[in-house]
Amino acid sequence: MDAAEVLRLDREHVWHPYTGVPSGVPVHVVRRAEGVRITLGDGRELIDGMASWWAAVHGYNHPRLNRAARDQLGDMAHVMFGGLTHEPAVRLAHRLAGMTGLDRVFLADSGSVAVEVAIKMAVQYSGRSALMTVRGGYHGDTFAAMSVCDPVGGMHHLFTGMLPRHVFAPMPPHDYGRRPGGTAQAGPDEVYLAELTAAVEAHADRLAAIIVEPVVQGAGGMRFYHPAYLRRLRELADEHGILLIADEIATGFGRTGEMFGCDHAGIRPDIMCVGKALTGGYMTLAATLCTSRVAERIGVLMHGPTYMGNPLACAVAGASLDLLAERPWREEVAHIEGALLDGLAPAVGAPGVRDVRVLGAIGVIETDQPVDVAKIQDIVMEHGVWLRPFGRLIYTMPPYACTPGDIARITGAMVAATAAL
Ligand SMILES: *Cc1c(COP(=O)(O)O)cnc(C)c1O
Repeated sequence: MDAAEVLRLDREHVWHPYTGVPSGVPVHVVRRAEGVRITLGDGRELIDGMASWWAAVHGYNHPRLNRAARDQLGDMAHVMFGGLTHEPAVRLAHRLAGMTGLDRVFLADSGSVAVEVAIKMAVQYSGRSALMTVRGGYHGDTFAAMSVCDPVGGMHHLFTGMLPRHVFAPMPPHDYGRRPGGTAQAGPDEVYLAELTAAVEAHADRLAAIIVEPVVQGAGGMRFYHPAYLRRLRELADEHGILLIADEIATGFGRTGEMFGCDHAGIRPDIMCVGKALTGGYMTLAATLCTSRVAERIGVLMHGPTYMGNPLACAVAGASLDLLAERPWREEVAHIEGALLDGLAPAVGAPGVRDVRVLGAIGVIETDQPVDVAKIQDIVMEHGVWLRPFGRLIYTMPPYACTPGDIARITGAMVAATAAL
């Protein structure tokens, strides 16, 4: 099919994320992707500043991940996980348990499902049904996950009437990460710590769990908050016998400069969700992990997707974690952080720019007004870069495999885009 035919059929039949059919915003045909570059139908090459939504940390078409998939295909692409098991799943579970200190692993088929499973675990564990979270969060698009997303800024207001009402503490101050110019972190905010404490204490006897994205609120607004708030939530959860769920689906596997967001706070959650970068961006796979104490009290967990523990996805995830262990990701992410700070500095104080912030391999320009997505995309594509702005955010979370030159291209494109605000 030529690119025009792909686009014609796409317009006729296909839903894209958060759009109608046909999509209201332009859609571009991708022919292939290699390293940190995607090649469009018209031959243009773009540096992927999004890592396919946090996932493709090693870059595309990676020989090691390709080989893991091919080798696994020769054995089996899939078998059911009910009553059967296999090396790729067991290896991956053992590996994740070793990385997190959480011994019991449920292999789910997407991040949202991993969050559903985490909530089921907490409900089955406690016999309670209320959850507490903070405003400004994002935990996925399925119903239980939607119910803990930000109730105002979220993408789910159409469903409010169908969602259980949980407890929302105020949005954390965004007082973590770095800003060009190197202003010191202000936090933690004692007033906010008191608000968190009050929210938990007011509802403690009906809470099954507290669920948060550690340190970085991703799709809810790309905000970074001080790890002291996470430590306080851990203390409060312990004090009141409530479980703490860390949704590390975006923050996991080095993105924030630590292996997991919780590592900034030096805490361990009772339940953790991982996804996105788990397979290095190759296929959908997520996991919900919990302590043996939690698992023992739950007993039979009532969940079991058809493609649970998919061997192909588990084999690629195993290879992706091998690669992560081998690559100097900590140095790479630190270098990207420095390059983002330097490269985004010219956006500070530009007309229409409210804030510029960086944490690990995440760089954000927050604008005063919602951006014109198509217009911003045109500009960054002219600079040879792929980004997907939303709301008041022009942001990047590039593959760790990006060179300093790649990062400079991305930040240059972002700064150029602010001229259109
Ligand atoms: C993306 C994301 C999810 C949902 O994952 P899907 O694989 O898209 O279902 C949940 N929580 C967080 C923090 C995420 O970033």
